[in-house]
Amino acid sequence: MIGFSLTEEQRLFQDAIRSFATREVAPIAREYDEREEYPIHILQKMGELGYLGVPFSREIGGGGGNSIMAAIMSEEMGYASAGIYLGVYVHVFLALNAIARFGNDEQKRRYLVPGMGGNKVGAWGFAEPDAGSDPGSMTTRATRDGDDYVLDGTKTYITNGSIADFVVVTANTDPAKGMRGLSLFIVDAGAPGFTVARKFRKLGVRASDTAELSFHACRVGRGALLGDESGGFMNAMRVLTAGRIVSAGFAVGTARAAFDQSLKHVSGRQAFGQPVGQFQGIQWQFADMAVELECAKLLTWQAAWMADQGLPHIKEASMAKLYATEMCARITGQAVLLHGASGYMMESDIQRFYRDVKVMEIGEGTSHIQRNTIARQLGL
Ligand SMILES: Cc1cc2nc3c(=O)[nH]c(=O)nc-3n(C[C@H](O)[C@H](O)[C@H](O)COP(=O)(O)OP(=O)(O)OC[C@H]3O[C@@H](n4cnc5c(N)ncnc54)[C@H](O)[C@@H]3O)c2cc1C
Repeated sequence: MIGFSLTEEQRLFQDAIRSFATREVAPIAREYDEREEYPIHILQKMGELGYLGVPFSREIGGGGGNSIMAAIMSEEMGYASAGIYLGVYVHVFLALNAIARFGNDEQKRRYLVPGMGGNKVGAWGFAEPDAGSDPGSMTTRATRDGDDYVLDGTKTYITNGSIADFVVVTANTDPAKGMRGLSLFIVDAGAPGFTVARKFRKLGVRASDTAELSFHACRVGRGALLGDESGGFMNAMRVLTAGRIVSAGFAVGTARAAFDQSLKHVSGRQAFGQPVGQFQGIQWQFADMAVELECAKLLTWQAAWMADQGLPHIKEASMAKLYATEMCARITGQAVLLHGASGYMMESDIQRFYRDVKVMEIGEGTSHIQRNTIARQLGL
């Protein structure tokens, strides 16, 4: 059986999250972008309303949702503000998801439950100054010392880095094994030896918090190990694969926002005695953008559906992420042109969409890395 419509439950969820995003998030998107500050109250409110638990099972207190629900939430929130949603996305789909998948009962009680409620914020510490795409070059170490581990290293460009209550960090417990020696740890903010080294200013997603984190003789107990020792690389890849589907939905949402505003603009803006949207060249541009948006959405929902069926979906997740994020960059770029100078001005949402989306082609594995993954899955 094949179907292209949402179930009643999914449709009701879409209406609810769309109304929340429209009412609470879209109206403050510009202000927080300009302030370069994260509106933490949005994450807390999403926790109160149960949205942060959507992708997690009911047994652990989540909403019992699935990958399709996650893609829907990302699309609607991405439509309202990519910058604000990025912090939610990393908290839920990377930090909490790692704990939901690999955490023991105590870790779920300490981090996942308050995280789903919006009472604790998580971050995902994977990238390092000399290791972004290439995890084999990571130099953060976790050395066993009695019952403890001692972490030394630097994680950089970390979303939520300076506001997080805890960070899920990759560190090497067995350097001789290269990236197969990586392990995951949960490190609390305030742990001795863990500091926020600096905060970054950015081109886009300025409402999100991005920081560099330093671990210097940072001692954590054995209870901080998340999943198996030396199982960190495979576990991180599982989290990132799931995250790629959701980030594809995110890109569809921001692209749709740029598309909708552009359609409205060309329907009203006059040139040469008629609305700009009456020129055939412009109409064809919209037709092409509409096709691209639909392709990205179908790829995203296909990958989400495969994940929900328990089918292998590494290739499909990368295809959705690659296509949706590049489509989003194309459409937001065209939206600036279609708005003329008005889209270039800081008072316009369009310039913000244009700046915000470049990161989508970089984070969660760059477009090059997605192409590498797809090619590998094709047997090359
Ligand atoms: C706003 C923002 C937020 C972020 N948030 C987080 C976060 O929360 N947690 C986290 O861990 N990281 C985060 N990152 C970091 C992000 O994951 C990395 O930037 C990304 O993985 C790329 O790594 P890099 O920047 O070191 O680029 P590099 O790995 O140095 O890549 C440089 C260039 O080389 C290309 N390249 C590298 N290897 C290959 C190859 N094998 N084949 C072809 N091309 C290749 C890349 O595609 C890229 O074009 C964030 C980044 C940004 C910009």
